[in-house]
Amino acid sequence: MEDILAILPSPTKETAPFWEGCNRSELLLRACEDCAQVFYYPRLYCPKCGSEKLAWRASAGRGTLYSFTHVGVSFYGPTWESQIPYTLVLVDLDDGPRMLSRLVGPDRDKVKIGDRVRVEFVEFETQKLPYFSIVRE
Ligand SMILES: [Zn+2]
Repeated sequence: MEDILAILPSPTKETAPFWEGCNRSELLLRACEDCAQVFYYPRLYCPKCGSEKLAWRASAGRGTLYSFTHVGVSFYGPTWESQIPYTLVLVDLDDGPRMLSRLVGPDRDKVKIGDRVRVEFVEFETQKLPYFSIVRE
């Protein structure tokens, strides 16, 4: 139980709406109202123009796999051992931003760069986390 709690996020002023969105199975991205830049992770200022005029925008949660790695060793000691093995992914969302996450699903070991993926919310205790699974058409 403690192992799971250690991997959960600690929401801050700038990230709380994002994590609340995840709990509603909604992937929210920040969008700048001055320059239209859409970005992830949530910040209080636009990384492109510095504006504070930001809105939340719901993502369709679809993207293309930019890169991945299979992780079989806990880099954080015993706390993370319950999570091994897992697959870390960088996803280029169709909305623009690149997002770091995990890949889940039965075909996780057959993943390849360029695969289409979609967000899949996985619940741990009181928080859903935005992971991805491969879309096979
Ligand atoms: Zn901006």
